[in-house]
Amino acid sequence: LLYNQVQDLKGTIRVYCRVRPFLSGPPDMQSTVDYIGENGDIMIVNPRKQGKDARKIFTFNKVFGTKVTQQQIYVDTQPLVRTVLDGFNVCIFAYGQTGSGKTYTMSGPDLTTEETWGVNYRALRDLFSTTKARQDMIEYEVGVQMIEIYNEQVRDLLVIDGANKRLEIRNNSQLNGLNVPDASLIPVTCTQDVLDLMRIGQKNRAVGATALNERSSRSHSILTVHVRGRELVSGSTLKGCLHLVDLAGSERVDKSEAVGERLKEAQHINKSLSALGDVISALAQKSSHIPYRNSKLTQVLQDSLGGQAKTLMFVHINPEADAFGETVSTLKFAERVA
Ligand code: ADP
Ligand code: MG
Repeated sequence: LLYNQVQDLKGTIRVYCRVRPFLSGPPDMQSTVDYIGENGDIMIVNPRKQGKDARKIFTFNKVFGTKVTQQQIYVDTQPLVRTVLDGFNVCIFAYGQTGSGKTYTMSGPDLTTEETWGVNYRALRDLFSTTKARQDMIEYEVGVQMIEIYNEQVRDLLVIDGANKRLEIRNNSQLNGLNVPDASLIPVTCTQDVLDLMRIGQKNRAVGATALNERSSRSHSILTVHVRGRELVSGSTLKGCLHLVDLAGSERVDKSEAVGERLKEAQHINKSLSALGDVISALAQKSSHIPYRNSKLTQVLQDSLGGQAKTLMFVHINPEADAFGETVSTLKFAERVA
């Protein structure tokens, strides 16, 4: 049964595109999304152009329109999440420009309303209920780490005084598969435990930032769920992990405007997002050299990208006309890794 589940997930890299609704404005505003086909097609239209050059089609594994709920998104994510309990490593990414809905997909708009919980909570809830259902056969332990990568520095988000402590990355299987062994690893047994940790993480993310939103859009946050299982009869063990990654905003920063700290941040983000794109497309093309070493992001995720591991990339786009340029570059990035 477990084997079949994995078999159903053809290929190891999948790309889902999600379009967020208009946030405000007149209901008759023209969307840059012309149509969404059932087979993963999306056609976008440049509102400032005429004729056939104004339209372009992209194709992904799935495209989710503005009315798709958090629950529906999770239905198509769940099979991948469950493989972690069979000992697979999985990465789920949220990519897109700032304001396109990355945090909405991963965390949800707030922590209070269960209906709008994002992939992170739903995945953990699902893992807990599945471990419970299997408890007569397999004994599981679940622990989480939460880190942030900002300007190519890794910080622990689960300690109160973690603000300035830089963490090292060690790609060393001796350390129980922990690539950031010094980041707090907190055991969790229920969704409430996870919600409590998320609150700590969000609070730590704000430390040192002038404005929370500003800072969170310029760093990558990674929630990692480590699972260990022991089969009660045979005594054999397995381990798997799930990385839930809310990436920094992918928007290009105007070089003439960005200076100092802002320019440095922009360069770091640019470098790490292209490193991620390079790794995933090298994997998709089954290249013999996978350039993991080019960014902290790809180093942290190294053993969960490639091999038997599974990757899901949610790319997010805005419907607004003035975001058209960013929408095109987001879709091009996505097309490259698909
Ligand atoms: P990002 O993390 O990419 O910067 P956010 O997730 O913060 O973007 O989303 C920006 C705004 O759009 C937020 O107010 C969020 O609640 C809203 N939003 C994003 N996606 C959706 C969606 N699918 N449905 C309704 N509102 C959304
Ligand atoms: Mg965000």
